[in-house]
This record gives sequence, C-alpha cells and structure tokens, in this order.
Amino acid sequence: MKNRLKVLIIGGDNRYLEVIDKLAANEIRVFLAGFEQLSFENSFISHREIIEVDFSKIDAILLPVAGTDSEGNIETTYTDKQLKLPKQRLHETPEHCVIYTGIANDYLENAAKTANRKLIRLFTRDDIAIYNSIPTAEATLKLAIEETDVTIHGSNIIIIGFGRIGITLARVFAALGANVTVAARKSAHFARINEMGINSIATEKIDKVISGMDICINTVPHLIIDTNIIDNMEASSLIIDLASKPGGTDFDYAEKKGVKTIHALGLPGKTAPRTAGEIIGGVLLELLEDSMQRT
Ligand code: NAP
Repeated sequence: MKNRLKVLIIGGDNRYLEVIDKLAANEIRVFLAGFEQLSFENSFISHREIIEVDFSKIDAILLPVAGTDSEGNIETTYTDKQLKLPKQRLHETPEHCVIYTGIANDYLENAAKTANRKLIRLFTRDDIAIYNSIPTAEATLKLAIEETDVTIHGSNIIIIGFGRIGITLARVFAALGANVTVAARKSAHFARINEMGINSIATEKIDKVISGMDICINTVPHLIIDTNIIDNMEASSLIIDLASKPGGTDFDYAEKKGVKTIHALGLPGKTAPRTAGEIIGGVLLELLEDSMQRT
C-alpha cells in the first residue's frame, strides 16, 4: 500500500532531511525539487526538476514550513535555483492529492483553492504545536541562561500566555527552581496554573508585578509588553519574545529604555532541527497513511 504513495517535496530546510528519511524508510516514493546539492543512497528518494514531474501521479506535495512568499516563491536551502509554486500544474494532480505546508498565506490558500486541492497547515495542528513546544522551551532556557548573569534557580520569571508554549515553559522553568509567574486570562487556566503550584496574574495586571521580574518571556502574538509595562520594568530585566512576527513587545521603546530584548523566532529549527524534523515527519506520515486508507 505504502509504496504506491508518491510525495513531491518542493524546497525546505534542514528539518526536512529527517522528514525525507522517515518517508523513504516507510517505503514512500519521495521526489525532491530543490535538494540537488545533497545526495541520497535510498532508492525511494530521487531528485526531480519541477518541469519533469508527472503531477498526475503525485499523491501529496510538501512545501517548506513557511509555505510560499506572497508571490509564490519557495524557500530553499540545498539549491541555487529559485523555485516557485507550480500553481498551474496543481490542476494536473489527482483529486485526492493533498498539499502540506507549515503555515499558509493568501497566495498559497488561493492556489490550493483554485486547483480544488486540500491544503493542510501542519503548524496550526495541536499535536505539532505541542511537540514543538519542547524544543522551543529548551532553546528559551538556553537563551535565558546565556543572556543573564544569575542562575535560573531563584530567578523571578514571568511567562505571558498559557497556551501550548506557555504551559511547557512554565513547567520547564519551575522544574529548575525559578520563581515562575504565569500571566493568563481564563479562569480554567488560573485553576490549572494553581494546580501546578505556580503563581498567576491576570494579563491586564502584569504592570503590577513586572518590576520584580528578572526575565519576561512572551508567547502572546499581540502587543502586550507595551510602554506602560516597559516603564515599570527594571533596566536590568531581559525580555525574550517568542511570539511570531511582529511579536508582542514594543521593541523600539524597550531599546530606548535600555531593556534588553530578544525576539527569538524559529527556535526548534535552529537548535534542534533533527527533533523538529522528526516531529513534522511523524505527523505527516500519520496523515499520509490516513489519507491513503481513505482513497
Ligand atoms: P497558543 O497555544 O495559541 O497560545 C497563545 C496564548 O496567547 C494563549 O494563552 C492565549 O490566551 C494568549 N493570547 C492570545 N491573544 C491574546 C490577547 N489578545 N491577550 C492576552 N492573551 C492572548 O500559541 P502557542 O502555540 O503557544 O504559540 C505562541 C506564539 O509562539 C505564536 O505566535 C507562535 O506562532 C509562536 N511560536 C514561536 C516559536 C519560536 O520558536 N519562537 C515556535 C513555535 C511557535 P487564551 O488561551 O486565553 O486565548
């Protein structure tokens, strides 16, 4: 069953090396566009120019984590060639062909819609986001250790947001003996934070506690660390903002006030690419097997 599956991977970074290995190890035929600087021993893996791909035989297409840019250009790591989403050729794929991406913009959504093909945004899935929170929290810990001159143990740390990353961060920093406070806004979240033996504060009241914090870690993808909060911070505090662009910090104002900020993005891919690739590959494999059973 599996070796009938044909997956075309167009572009991607070092995380995809693990994904490619995982698919091939499961006897899925993998065609690679944008990887010609690498060679693979496995007979299930082969290089293709997009122009020579027989799209009518492709069961799934995997795009890079970032999807495409607003003009359909695809990010590559292992080629000098510029790749573009073969928009028109998506129509040639069989009806069951699914397009997988990390995230999607309007360009990609429109391309999938026009071709009437299903688009799956892997990074909006809870399973991937929760697994990814592990390397993200570890990399945040690394930054916190390197960028301060005190131990994490005994430090006052505020974590803003109690979502998939916030929960893991709270657990990791509390386990090291930090004095952790989590800022949240839902009563169920306050109950859970309390159950974990961690301090909590309503997000709108962060300014009341921020002056005592050594490190402030933001996970909320909206402006939270604004001028008011920065005005109440010690200049010696460190802000680590993990929220996707534009982040949740007034970076210009923090700089003006001399508060050190780090907008730390793409941490799993930077500090644990193999694990990040295993996470993507594992979930992708499950989805491919699922979709194969339905066709
Ligand atoms: P999530 O599960 O959606 O959690 C987001 C948190 O933000 C939730 O606690 C949510 O509160 C809170 N929130 C959202 N809007 C808010 C608002 N207006 N005011 C106050 N709180 C608000 O997201 P996640 O998976 O933890 O990811 C968090 C961010 O990190 C995202 O931007 C994601 O793209 C990014 N990310 C970064 C990295 C990295 O390497 N830096 C890696 C992965 C993801 P409620 O639950 O009350 O709604």
